[in-house]
Amino acid sequence: MTTTTPTLPPVDFAARLSGRAQRMTVSAIRELLKLTQRPDIISFAGGLPAPELFPLADIRTAANAVLDRYGPAAVQYGTTEGHLPLREWIAARTPGLTPAHVQIVTGSQQGLDLLGKILIDEGDVVLVEAPTYLGALQSFQPYGPRYVDLPTDEHGIDVDALETVLKATPAKLLYAIPNFQNPTGRTLSLERRRRLVELTAQYGVLVLEDDPYGKLRFRGEDLPSLYEIALELAGGDPEGSHVIYSGSFSKTLVPGLRDAWVQAAHPVIEKLVQAKQGADLHTPIFNQMIITELVGEVLPRQVELVKKAYGERARDMVARIEQHFPAGVDFTTPEGGMFLWVTLPEGLDTTELFPRALERGVAYVPGRPFYARGGGANTMRLSYSNATPAQIDSGIRALGETIRGALD
Ligand code: PMP
Repeated sequence: MTTTTPTLPPVDFAARLSGRAQRMTVSAIRELLKLTQRPDIISFAGGLPAPELFPLADIRTAANAVLDRYGPAAVQYGTTEGHLPLREWIAARTPGLTPAHVQIVTGSQQGLDLLGKILIDEGDVVLVEAPTYLGALQSFQPYGPRYVDLPTDEHGIDVDALETVLKATPAKLLYAIPNFQNPTGRTLSLERRRRLVELTAQYGVLVLEDDPYGKLRFRGEDLPSLYEIALELAGGDPEGSHVIYSGSFSKTLVPGLRDAWVQAAHPVIEKLVQAKQGADLHTPIFNQMIITELVGEVLPRQVELVKKAYGERARDMVARIEQHFPAGVDFTTPEGGMFLWVTLPEGLDTTELFPRALERGVAYVPGRPFYARGGGANTMRLSYSNATPAQIDSGIRALGETIRGALD
């Protein structure tokens, strides 16, 4: 007797994916970046916080304290809104804000996704900086936005151009990173912040202010957030703010506990709670409790430590760029955060240059994917947060040689 192995008909999974899924894009740079993990490569590509600065001993102490104090509740299901003492601490930073205006999220990346989900309908116009944070574009993309680029210069978004766009295009949302922007390291000036808040209010456009780096200023004066400016214009009433603020503990404490928050008016938070419930019920309660232990004494100390280190590394990188890069290359000089942005002479393409840089043992992120609507072929992002002075010296030297080689 012969037995035949039953065969099932092939399944065409691709044809069964939702329109949403089909709008998701592979990150063109992910494959490139895998190459940068070789131990022989000096990588200025990954936007990683410096791991040697992580407060591991404090996290261990905090974890024990949390288990002693809360027992099983530290690992039980928690509320969707988040751990109340943490929300209270966040709310207390801004006069007028209450815990009811604060939603804890699993990394601000989740906040971007959930806000995209509750705010963006297919075809809605979303105004973005050109360039902007690639991860935000990835979060919003499945919801089918129509991106409109806002031109930027060394002071951030060009607000005159914003006004022209607002006059011509009914927009739903403006997404901005005013402090030490990813990818450029630029900061939006105070005057422009005011104008941006006023213009968007006037034209009925919501603003999503993404601010994971704001506390990491190592030069110059702190500026009010867009949220604070909107709150002031609304007479201190959080219900009157059209700015939605996204904050994170990833860059000031550690990224791996995935703790961040969104603060906004009640109608936004209420919807966010529903979206969050469907996404993951809540952010791990144990992590939130650990973070709450750390915000009192460890966080301020940690912020000082990180600012000092990143300030030195940024200064170092800028000095080496001045020394080793050929004339005609532009770069930003950040006042905080983790990144700087390099613009090569027109005609050079940093994606094409990438393998040649790798051959010389150095990696960066080509700038093109940070543009929602294309462009930026001659740009690149460099991260200094996770590099030693020796790596900065030899890496920037190698990059300079690569650029010179391309110009010859
Ligand atoms: N927004 C910006 C501008 C970022 O640079 C990052 C991290 N690279 C995030 C959001 C996400 O951060 P997290 O989810 O760790 O809070």
